Amino acid sequence: MLLTYKPYLLEFKHPFGVSSNTRKETPTVFIKLEGENNFGYGEACLPSYLGETVESTTQFFQKAANLFSSYDPTLPLHFFLDEIQQLGEGNYAAKAAVDIALNDLYGKILNKSYSRMMGFPVSEPKATSFTIGIDSPQKIEQKIKEAEDFQILKIKAGTADDKQLIELIRKFTDKPLYVDVNQGWRDKNFVMDMILWMKEQNVILLEQPMPVEMHEEMSWVTEQSPILTIADESVRRLSDLEAMDECFGGVNIKLMKCTGLREAMRMINYCKKNDLKILLGCMAESSCGTTAMAQLMQFADYVDLDAPLLYKNDPFTGVKYEKGFVCLEEKPGIGTFPQEHLFD
Ligand code: MG
Repeated sequence: MLLTYKPYLLEFKHPFGVSSNTRKETPTVFIKLEGENNFGYGEACLPSYLGETVESTTQFFQKAANLFSSYDPTLPLHFFLDEIQQLGEGNYAAKAAVDIALNDLYGKILNKSYSRMMGFPVSEPKATSFTIGIDSPQKIEQKIKEAEDFQILKIKAGTADDKQLIELIRKFTDKPLYVDVNQGWRDKNFVMDMILWMKEQNVILLEQPMPVEMHEEMSWVTEQSPILTIADESVRRLSDLEAMDECFGGVNIKLMKCTGLREAMRMINYCKKNDLKILLGCMAESSCGTTAMAQLMQFADYVDLDAPLLYKNDPFTGVKYEKGFVCLEEKPGIGTFPQEHLFD
């Protein structure tokens, strides 16, 4: 098999603000995997706070390319997925890219969609939240107007005054809100006060209010919270989920954190067995990574897969958005395709 890669800069329509930073673009690296006259595509999306760089990712792809060059896809898919995990520590997004491309390639060779290959039907359309990043009041009003098709809004909080932010949003819309604090609050009593106030504001889900290391405080909050608490930065992989204890009521699963579809499916199974809610999210990816995650929508309690809509230069097609719903067509593999000449 032949593996090639292409670094790319995804540019936001509006600068994207979260509690720790604002950025105009997201670096990503696309890969193409060729075998049996078919092509599989994958993506490693690399927001800087995760610590993976274009350089470390392309180095990983070079190692994978060398390894794969001596094999062909007559070997089982799991053989390659295991090999990738053993290629080195970390590199979660790079591993996810290879996992996505392998699943895409195998599906195309077998002429089956990913879900048929795994033995379940293709997901029906599901409503996704639409993300409103931290911004000026005028821009927030504009973004809420742009999100008119969407039934749920996801608000990035962790500002100097989050009550003011939510009150501002409530001037323009009464839609249910997910609030993502990205670790921005540090006092458990403040968090509880905010939760009780947000409950009255029709906030239905609170994501990662406190820093990762605040386990005890987070358990205390979750035990009393009338709003569902969701782990994001606290849980990357299955092992983190198993160690999470009772800190959160659910988890935001992302391919770029958990190394791909195989581990995401294992995390979904763990959540189902342990009565944890499942939010399927993404890391501001293009349509390539987002279409891969959409394959698992039917297992989700909540879907936050709006990332391709935030960009002005998405070079892939795949999922479609209709009236705030994520729609997946049944196509061989993942069903995501690059624009012409992307890999030239
Ligand atoms: Mg989050």
